Amino acid sequence: MPDPLPGGDGTAAAPFATAPGFAELGSRFFTRLAPTPLPSPYLVSVSAPAAALLGWDAHAATQAGFIETFAGNQVPAWADPLASVYSGHQFGVWAGQLGDGRAIRLAEARTAGGPMEIQLKGAGMTPYSRMADGRAVLRSSIREYLCSEAMAALGIPTTRAMCIVGSDAPIRRETVETAAVVARLAPSFIRFGHFEHFAAREDIGALRQLADFVIDRFMPACREDAQPYQALLREVSLRTAELMAQWQAVGFCHGVMNTDNMSILGLTIDYGPFGFLDAFDANHICNHTDSQGRYAYSQQPQVAFWNLHCLAQALMPLWREGEGEAGKDAAVEAARAALDPFRARYAAAFFRRYRDKLGLRPPAGRDEDDEPLLTSLFQLLHEQRVDYTLFWRNLARISSADGSRDAPVRDLFPDRAAWDAWAGTYRARLRAEQSDDAARAAAMLAVNPKYVLRNHLAETAIRRAREKDFGEVDRLLAVLSRPFDEQPGAEAYAALPPDWAAGLEVSCSS
Ligand code: AMP
Ligand code: MG
Repeated sequence: MPDPLPGGDGTAAAPFATAPGFAELGSRFFTRLAPTPLPSPYLVSVSAPAAALLGWDAHAATQAGFIETFAGNQVPAWADPLASVYSGHQFGVWAGQLGDGRAIRLAEARTAGGPMEIQLKGAGMTPYSRMADGRAVLRSSIREYLCSEAMAALGIPTTRAMCIVGSDAPIRRETVETAAVVARLAPSFIRFGHFEHFAAREDIGALRQLADFVIDRFMPACREDAQPYQALLREVSLRTAELMAQWQAVGFCHGVMNTDNMSILGLTIDYGPFGFLDAFDANHICNHTDSQGRYAYSQQPQVAFWNLHCLAQALMPLWREGEGEAGKDAAVEAARAALDPFRARYAAAFFRRYRDKLGLRPPAGRDEDDEPLLTSLFQLLHEQRVDYTLFWRNLARISSADGSRDAPVRDLFPDRAAWDAWAGTYRARLRAEQSDDAARAAAMLAVNPKYVLRNHLAETAIRRAREKDFGEVDRLLAVLSRPFDEQPGAEAYAALPPDWAAGLEVSCSS
């Protein structure tokens, strides 16, 4: 345990040592500035598991100065606050310079698990705020907080959220809401857009510095490669492929997969208009603002691949040697070679995850031999608009011998005969591999969550929080932190969405 760092006047003392981290890169990469204070801040919620990543226990929030520190009202002695600059493609179009318009990094903590950046989201204007106010509202902050922690509990790579601090300061969106700040944690918040930024400026020195920073700190194996920067691109492609398979398997829709919202570490980042599938719809669009469905559920893996092409384009100057078309062709070829493993890795991860969800052993032949079973299932779920989470959970308990225990899953299908037909194929496969029902059920229940952050659950917690009752945020956080466990008394959190949920719309407004 490193020596604790003192706070300053009215700030939180910290149980960790710090390092310069991103600040090492120098002033081309960021602007140093303090958060803008918020009037009369109050604690909304603390995630004990996230706080523990920094060495704080569950009572940390009662420490003097904790709320002031995470409201951004006091800058502790251990902090070196800064906002970073990046650019990006938004909805397929080059958007130019963006940057941390409302996020301020406080510090990089040195933890047992490696470096951990502490960032305040909603901490006030920065040089990158453009026309916006630098703030985040309580509604979107609760959504980001709950989903970050829920994803972590699901085993899906993600930035974390340690606490929410609220204030009654009015924030204008479609209506007037109130302000909040989320303390986010991640080993790094570097995005594809950071690389695009320096490539667009043709600042190859900065580009190389950034790539070296990521390689040396997070992907040291790339350094051993004859072409470290191509190895970096390959590694990011593989991580992103794994992440996409996890999103698809759990039914998570990100909603705004712009290149500035893609983590170089393969983390889920920037929770805005995200959603989990309720009734399965392959073309589900969770972001009301995304009228074209660019980021629909079924599009996510290929959008990620498109985003990786943007990253490749940005990194290419690092291995382009020689002038003219010949140099360019060779560089493009090398980029293609580094991106290409995305497909195979995504396919392998996809089949592995869905086989696990189905409780199947790998086929005797190739992964693709499972394709007909899966394709027919997706088609069926789509046509019948079956609740995605309940389907998998209830599927775990059927019998491989006959339909005697089918009711909980069969009743999810408006057309029971359609289920019976698919179930026949599935049962045949289970019998062919002599599946043991009890062992299979246990394995399936360990990968198919019972509890996910359905929109209406978040909405209920938000409505109560607006009335200053934060208990539902905490309850939901607790339920979502054990998504695979049966939790007596929490059945309502696993139920089908109520009728009023159909009217919920989630947009980019945050
Ligand atoms: P997003 O797509 O929500 O991740 O944000 C895109 C860009 O807009 C990023 O550069 C954000 O920092 C910036 N941004 C979003 N909302 C605000 C806000 N309220 N104030 C300042 N910048 C913002
Ligand atoms: Mg963003």
